[in-house]
Amino acid sequence: NDYTYREVMQYISENDVKFIRLAFCDIFGKQKNISIMPRELSRAFEEGISFDASAVRGFMNIEMSDLLLFPDPTTLSILPWRPSQGRVVRFFCDIKYPDGTPFEGDGRQVLRQAQEDMRRLGYSVKIGTECEFYLLRQDENGLPTKIPHDNASYLDIAPLDKGENVRRQICLTLEEMNMRPEASHHEQGPGQNEIDFAYDSAVTAADNMITFRSVVKTLAASNGLYASFMPKLFRDHAGNGLHINLSLFQHGENLFCNPNESHSPVVESFIMGILTRCYEISAFLNPLVNSYDRFGNYEAPRYITWSHQNRSQLIRIPAAHGVNQRMELRSPDPCANPYLAFSLLIRAGMEGIERGLKLCDPCNLNLYDVPASLVREYDCLPSNLNEAIKASQNSEFVHRSLPEKIIDAYLSAKTSEWNRYVDASDKSSMIDSLYFS
Ligand code: GLN
Ligand code: MG
Ligand code: MG
Ligand code: MG
Repeated sequence: NDYTYREVMQYISENDVKFIRLAFCDIFGKQKNISIMPRELSRAFEEGISFDASAVRGFMNIEMSDLLLFPDPTTLSILPWRPSQGRVVRFFCDIKYPDGTPFEGDGRQVLRQAQEDMRRLGYSVKIGTECEFYLLRQDENGLPTKIPHDNASYLDIAPLDKGENVRRQICLTLEEMNMRPEASHHEQGPGQNEIDFAYDSAVTAADNMITFRSVVKTLAASNGLYASFMPKLFRDHAGNGLHINLSLFQHGENLFCNPNESHSPVVESFIMGILTRCYEISAFLNPLVNSYDRFGNYEAPRYITWSHQNRSQLIRIPAAHGVNQRMELRSPDPCANPYLAFSLLIRAGMEGIERGLKLCDPCNLNLYDVPASLVREYDCLPSNLNEAIKASQNSEFVHRSLPEKIIDAYLSAKTSEWNRYVDASDKSSMIDSLYFS
């Protein structure tokens, strides 16, 4: 599906395409787009299409507000749910200043740079995500309720599972968009579902994550439902996680592949790099006040530990064979900006390799059910958003890894979200209104 400029122009003229969406994300990972007509496309490739960046949260100010979108031809995809006559296609874009320099707020380019630096070190990281979400009923005005679509549980089947048709539509739609969903199932919570992706290079995996969120929301709505990625919707049910599976390739070979259960030193250093920085990058992996309610139960981690099998741990190295071997990071949630999250993880792993870090011992305890004296030796993930913000602010690693412009805008927005939460008199309805995302 890697189209060149010429193939794109041909595709547009041969497939009755009438609208072209130029998509990008704000620094919080929220997708935006502007639609242009096909005759504007060559101008978009050559000169870029301008938009008012002062109206995008975290981007620019009024005095200097113009930025330009340049479509990335390799990301051409049809939007299958739009009409089949007068079709709509979508490109992800690179964002530039009018003088042609790349815009530092563009997470896609930040991630591409991280990927490139890793390649220069001799490795490439592949990323596969598992994303969970709840399907909820809408009320008679089409507004979301907190009533789950069904009462099914992990791997249940119909008629208990009422999500099968929506999951089917989601997977078929993703395939039409050249993405590779691998598996889907009902999750633990009532109305909770999960779809897993084949691994891909980091930028593509992040683009796919953004596309996935819009496909899920769109198809849920067309079925009269509301899809929520909120990290912890119900206190007494499982939260929504975004498990990130990472593998490390050198000369086309997955270094996580190891017949005899032991890991190569490079893989161990990579994992240790991520374990070391996980605490201080949590504000980017777990962006909402509500994110921190998810940790520590229902198979969401709390301690900064790893193990081969135990699902209470932050990092798990699952039993898998051949090219599918990987590490699974279990703390992130689906509200994260995947471009920034993946950038930080790649740079943390890279730092681990460069410094030759030694992996600490695995922890094979069930961390939900263990005497306090035994867990005391383990560090915890931040216990709330404020703690996470502070850790990022004070992290020289974060300041080395992301453009200052992004860190500033991101953390100050998060700080005001936290302050609004602290000041709210009705905290739970405040969380719902802000984060029914
Ligand atoms: N829902 C759990 C979480 O919050 C994960 C459960 C699972 O996939 N086994 O991360
Ligand atoms: Mg899973
Ligand atoms: Mg799951
Ligand atoms: Mg998983």
